[in-house]
Amino acid sequence: MRVDIISIFPDYFAPLELSLIGKARATGLLDLNVHDLRTWTSDVHRTVDDTPYGGGPGMVMRPEPWGQALDAVGAGTLVVPSPVGKPFTQADAYELAGLDHLIFACGRYEGIDQRVIDDAASRMPVREVSLGDYVLFGGEVAVIVIMEAITRLLPGVLGNADSLTEESHAAGLLEAPVYTKPASWRGRDVPDILRSGDHGRIARWRRDQSLLRTAGRRPDMMAAYPPEHLDKADRKT
Ligand code: SAM
Repeated sequence: MRVDIISIFPDYFAPLELSLIGKARATGLLDLNVHDLRTWTSDVHRTVDDTPYGGGPGMVMRPEPWGQALDAVGAGTLVVPSPVGKPFTQADAYELAGLDHLIFACGRYEGIDQRVIDDAASRMPVREVSLGDYVLFGGEVAVIVIMEAITRLLPGVLGNADSLTEESHAAGLLEAPVYTKPASWRGRDVPDILRSGDHGRIARWRRDQSLLRTAGRRPDMMAAYPPEHLDKADRKT
């Protein structure tokens, strides 16, 4: 997968050289390029913003550097992090992970001149995505979050791909609690069943915990869970 990230703060993306994303880059699974938007400015101050038409507080990112930057990186799927975008989900991560070329446009100030997005949409798919119902300083952190969610889905990135199918949000439920050694810690014991070696009962326990957690913490997810995915034992839980 090729990824181009355009930002006025390229240094923000240093964490994308670490851990499994860094390894995916080093092994060629991920061709990730970070670009400084100011490369495409032409004035001595390398200006990327100006006052908003219609008045109001703050500044808006000018269309010219963005237009040139997007022309330079070529066509792909443009992802624009924005609080007015569609909330980003695991299903979106799967869709994006299946694409060959992603371009991320990191807004700052009051955002990017709308014509940049409209112009890009005339020649490539554009997705405006929101991390949640709050406002960040800029799109950089959102891109790091989205890149983490996508990269771990790329074939070959995770050592054990089974963890993808069993984790939260993979199949519309939250994951059951997890434990490791020691068996007893500060007077708290690991549930006996997890130490029983009975794989059938362990699987049932995990399934029950997953259903209970989802129903208790995310009734919206439980309500959306397809009833035909519930077995007889699930219904008792
Ligand atoms: N004036 C904008 C508004 O009210 O919708 C907010 C602009 S925000 C200060 C600057 C940039 O941060 C946005 O262009 C976007 O790239 C990013 N951003 C802020 N909140 C975000 C969120 N919830 N999800 C994704 N990106 C966000």
